[in-house]
Amino acid sequence: SIPVVALVGRPNVGKSTIFNRLIGERLSIVEDVPGVTRDRIYATASWLNREFRLIDTGGIDLSDEPLMNQVRYQAEIAMEEADVIIFVVSAREGLTDIDENIANQLHRTHKPVVVAVNKTDNPEQRMQTYDFYALGHGEPFAVSGSHGTGFGDLLDAVVASF
Ligand code: GDP
Ligand code: MG
Repeated sequence: SIPVVALVGRPNVGKSTIFNRLIGERLSIVEDVPGVTRDRIYATASWLNREFRLIDTGGIDLSDEPLMNQVRYQAEIAMEEADVIIFVVSAREGLTDIDENIANQLHRTHKPVVVAVNKTDNPEQRMQTYDFYALGHGEPFAVSGSHGTGFGDLLDAVVASF
């Protein structure tokens, strides 16, 4: 069956931007209610002829929950549903307490975790990538969802984990 890859990370790190980038089209689900647009959370993507299902856990509506619970439930969903987890963090804001919290939660799974350091838009930010080794999930991969850079190496690591 087709492998499942989940995007996990605190709000605003760029999960939806990366989701759209990886599926190669700009997508949203427009509900029947006028003016209501929801992020799409499931799509099929591929890399080097390997297909996978992508889940943007940030699009799962948990808006009634406090931030910490939203992030916790999203990580739980990823750990249950996914074969590989892409843990998204941001070079702009650097390592935060919530990132460390998610990292600790993800340590409880035996599933592969690949760290994507998003918003690495320039070479100076590239240096910050190494700070994220501290999350304890191996080599962090610098990407820019806005510019579309760095996804080759990230996806190589993802499909190598299938
Ligand atoms: P999500 O909450 O994790 O889904 O994050 P979004 O994809 O909605 O992105 C949050 C904000 O970060 C938006 O304003 C994006 O335009 C911005 N963003 C996403 N990727 C990048 C990036 O690579 N570089 C920069 N500078 N901004 C980005
Ligand atoms: Mg989002």
